[in-house]
Amino acid sequence: DLEFMLRSSAMYIQKQADEKEMSIELDLHGPYFVKADPMVEDVFANILSNAIKYSPKRTKVIVDVANQGEFWKISITDSGEGIADEDKPLVFDRFKRVNKGNIKGTGLGLAIVKRIMELHEGDVGVSNNPEGQGSVFWVTLKKADL
Ligand code: ATP
Ligand code: MG
Repeated sequence: DLEFMLRSSAMYIQKQADEKEMSIELDLHGPYFVKADPMVEDVFANILSNAIKYSPKRTKVIVDVANQGEFWKISITDSGEGIADEDKPLVFDRFKRVNKGNIKGTGLGLAIVKRIMELHEGDVGVSNNPEGQGSVFWVTLKKADL
C-alpha cells in the first residue's frame, strides 16, 4: 500500500520539518498498490529528509503519485537550492556531496536509495522543479497485480 508507506515516511520526517517550519504536503488519492519491499519507506524518508535539509525555512515539500502504465511514479518536489545539471548524475554516488555550504552529511543517503531501487523493478532520478527553483526526486515502482 504505497499511500500508507508514503504517509509513514512523512510522519517519520515530520519533526525535522517542524524544526524548519516546513510542511510536507501529501497530494495522494490512493489506494495505490505496488510490488515493493517495506524498505522503500527508507527511500522516501531519505529523499524527504534531503528535501527538508536542502531547502530554506518555511517552504513546502510536495509528494504526489502519477499513473505511468505498469508503474506508479512518486514525485517529491522541493523549492530548495536545486542541483546543477552536471551534478545530477553524481548525487547517487557514495560520498558525493554537491553545493553543500555548511550543511552536514556523509553523502550516503542517495547511494543507499539507489541500491534499494536496484533491488526493485523501478527506478529513481532527479529533475528540476518545473514550477521554479528546487528539485524533483522521482521514484517508479511496479504496480501490484491484484
Ligand atoms: P547523508 O544523507 O548521508 O546524511 P547527504 O545528504 O549529503 O548525506 P545524500 O543524501 O546522498 O547525502 O545526497 C547527496 C548530495 O546531493 C547532497 O550532499 C546534496 O549536495 C545533494 N542533494 C540531495 N538532495 C538534494 C535536494 N533535495 N536539493 C538540493 N541538493 C540535494
Ligand atoms: Mg541525505
